Amino acid sequence: MCSFLNFAIILVGGVMLLYATSGISELEIPNKKSLVIYISECKNNCKNCHTPYLHEKYGDSLKENFNLLLNLYFNYLDVVCFMGEGKNTKEEKEELKYYCNIIHDLGKESALYSGRDVDIEEWMNCFDYVKVGSYQENKGSLSNRNTNQKLYKKENNKYKDITYLFWK
Ligand code: SF4
Repeated sequence: MCSFLNFAIILVGGVMLLYATSGISELEIPNKKSLVIYISECKNNCKNCHTPYLHEKYGDSLKENFNLLLNLYFNYLDVVCFMGEGKNTKEEKEELKYYCNIIHDLGKESALYSGRDVDIEEWMNCFDYVKVGSYQENKGSLSNRNTNQKLYKKENNKYKDITYLFWK
């Protein structure tokens, strides 16, 4: 059993990220166990979204619970994976970057699942893994060879497309 991780969350600002649920999964990052944190208030509007509850302003403050989540799952995770970016505001990006740095300080990896059709943005560079691309029903998710989505892994400060690892 590990002793309680000792780090402080020092974030200033008004409305911060909310998360709806969390748990350990081996599906998001190939060959890794991830603590997946589902961020609420997604504004991407993908048609036939598979997690519509994430559109709502619903859940608990991530800032208030991040320490607790890491302590609960620390021994079972390789990666902390943020599923979504909330409203994608400047403050929320800063909040995600802040957590990313804490994760690295604790010797773990970090991942961001963005649902936007973008190239990797500068603020995302903190993350070891970045997924981009909206959900398009006719193309499927990462495990579909026809997918529009991509998962990148950072190696030697460059992002490499590792989407093919999902294909059987
Ligand atoms: S990014 Fe994900 S949660 Fe957001 S609308 Fe698209 S599928 Fe739904």
